[in-house]
Amino acid sequence: PANDVGSDAMTVAYIGLGANLGDARQTLKDAVVCLAQQRTISILGKSSLYRTAPFEAGGDDYYNCVVKLDTTLSARELLALCQKIEHHFGRERPYRNAPRTLDLDILLFGTDSIDEPDLIVPHPRLTDRAFALVPLVEIEPALDIPARGRADAFLAAVADQRVEKVQTCQCPMQKALAAGEDADKTRCR
Ligand code: ATP
Ligand code: CA
Ligand code: CA
Repeated sequence: PANDVGSDAMTVAYIGLGANLGDARQTLKDAVVCLAQQRTISILGKSSLYRTAPFEAGGDDYYNCVVKLDTTLSARELLALCQKIEHHFGRERPYRNAPRTLDLDILLFGTDSIDEPDLIVPHPRLTDRAFALVPLVEIEPALDIPARGRADAFLAAVADQRVEKVQTCQCPMQKALAAGEDADKTRCR
């Protein structure tokens, strides 16, 4: 199984990143680099950056993105790594849903369904949250969520949540894409 410690098997996992304290955009970029530098992780894809309304919380707007990765880590090891990276970026937890410098949630871990006190995968609130679901579907349009079905089927129910793509790349290809030219020829993130 994918969550065996010490296994050489690779698992495709999706991590949702969020931040709304400090230089949130820079922190998300740095956190993706941090993940990419792990010898146990290969980054397979990254969504656009999104600016989103705080969900069931106050404070400033959030920045969010989702990364797809391949890893030799178990789900539990990946959680520990995520928590180490959050800590490195000064994450504090004064109260539930408090503003944060960095949050890394395991959205999916292969096809695993995990239900333990400190680790639930697929992330239990994934399908209620546009800030996680929209970037996830952007990088994996045909994604199936274990035990829940097509990810894109949940988009309509979160359409009232404010989520806007942030223009991060000024290269000619990105501008052509924004102007509505052929997406395959102009892909750039
Ligand atoms: P939410 O879980 O609603 O997104 P949060 O991200 O603000 O809230 P945290 O304070 O970051 O919550 O995490 C609380 C606990 O959630 C962590 O200690 C961790 O053990 C647990 N947890 C359970 N499932 C997951 C998961 N799939 N990814 C990350 N943490 C998880
Ligand atoms: Ca979270
Ligand atoms: Ca979290």
